[in-house]
Amino acid sequence: MILPQAFTDQLKTQIGTEFADFEAALLQTPPVSIRYNPRKKHASAGEIIPWCEEGRYLEQRPVFTLDPLFHSGAFYVQEASSMLVGYVLPQVATISKPLRVLDLCAAPGGKTTLLTSILHPDSLILANEVIKGRVMILKENVQKWGFPNVHVSNHDPEDFERLEAFFDVILIDAPCSGEGLFRKDPAAINEWSPGSVQVCAGRQKRILDAAMPLLRPSGILIYCTCTYNDIENQESGQWILDGEQFTEIKIDIPDSWGVVTKPIGYQCYPHRVKGEGFFFSVFQKQAGFETAHPYDTLPRRSKEEGFRSCKRLHAKQTPEASRWLEKPENFHFFVKPNGEVLALMDSQLEEVRILDNTLSAKGIGLEMGEFKGNDFIPSHALALSTALSPDILRLELSGNEALLFLKKENLNIEAPRGWLLVTHQGLGLGWVKGLGNRINNYLPKDWRIRMEIPE
Ligand code: SAM
Repeated sequence: MILPQAFTDQLKTQIGTEFADFEAALLQTPPVSIRYNPRKKHASAGEIIPWCEEGRYLEQRPVFTLDPLFHSGAFYVQEASSMLVGYVLPQVATISKPLRVLDLCAAPGGKTTLLTSILHPDSLILANEVIKGRVMILKENVQKWGFPNVHVSNHDPEDFERLEAFFDVILIDAPCSGEGLFRKDPAAINEWSPGSVQVCAGRQKRILDAAMPLLRPSGILIYCTCTYNDIENQESGQWILDGEQFTEIKIDIPDSWGVVTKPIGYQCYPHRVKGEGFFFSVFQKQAGFETAHPYDTLPRRSKEEGFRSCKRLHAKQTPEASRWLEKPENFHFFVKPNGEVLALMDSQLEEVRILDNTLSAKGIGLEMGEFKGNDFIPSHALALSTALSPDILRLELSGNEALLFLKKENLNIEAPRGWLLVTHQGLGLGWVKGLGNRINNYLPKDWRIRMEIPE
């Protein structure tokens, strides 16, 4: 691995005599780690990651695509250092009560699924990604994880200005120069230059500038990158402090984990922490920065419900929609102009209304499916949702059958007539329609496995 000279010089200044160990670590195979979904329990394997109860190091990298449990959302493949965000949050926020959380730079959704797993189930989580081409993967990962309290949007950070002081926690996992990924993704080395570090730092300040007003007083800002340089980490942090609205919060981290305390924030290096390069810092907004335009003065769009993008589902269709959920009493059913039925959690209905009225590019609530005449056609998101009713008929498949289903093949399996949830090890993978001696496969085309399945 040939490192740019300017990068080597910078790291030598930063870590001095540890540079040789750092360089040696870059030549090692990156550790493989996954994080289990606490609501999709099944047997777990691997060495526990000390800072993440659900995190595991695996000895080797399996072909995840060929593991049906990967497609059911039973686990997420995530490098271990970045799981520290899940260790930090409970230290700085009261996660035993519902919070409003904005994950501003969210695709592909690793930290969204991490936060979702530890926050109170009634928390409102908005996962935003500015780049349109990356929203689909974010949405897929959020749907696979299956928690109905997560909403996805596709906006520039500056588009949120009407949500001033709305959020309790904002996570900015900033686009950065990616120095911490050189081992995992050597292509990142070619994209690196002192100039690109400056460009990233400028972008980060613009993102921070747009995000800071969105926090309520006492709210928590977590800023992280997967890079080492002081320009993107220390200078960005100092810039936050210079505004005099925020103070840094120091985090208790056991020495044995190898995380380095920086003047601002904390750094993981691969020769010290079994994971990739990751930086994080935590700030709290001070009281006295109340806003001139708090979100709760936003006008209601319609006198009846106030939702801009959907209206209440017709009463005569509600019993059928309710039948698909385990606790329908906790949801309200809405329908979009395109006929898509949404389930919105009762506990956050008012807040979701505000999101609906202030953001144009978003997907709120749980996509349930649509009515065709009197028939209800369930959506793929519903198959993966943790809110699905356990009373829905299921069809358990072997590993090989599950992979054929995930390749979108039509299986010749005897099955009762009607909608069936295809499961593997009890976890939902998608829908089929039983036709007696065969089944029709309703896996969405875009979700199918494209690789060959070995015999
Ligand atoms: N949080 C993600 C996770 O854990 O899976 C990774 C986020 S990645 C480090 C940074 C994200 O910021 C990318 O998805 C990128 O598209 C997005 N991004 C790029 N430019 C941006 C901008 N100007 N404002 C906000 N986000 C931006």
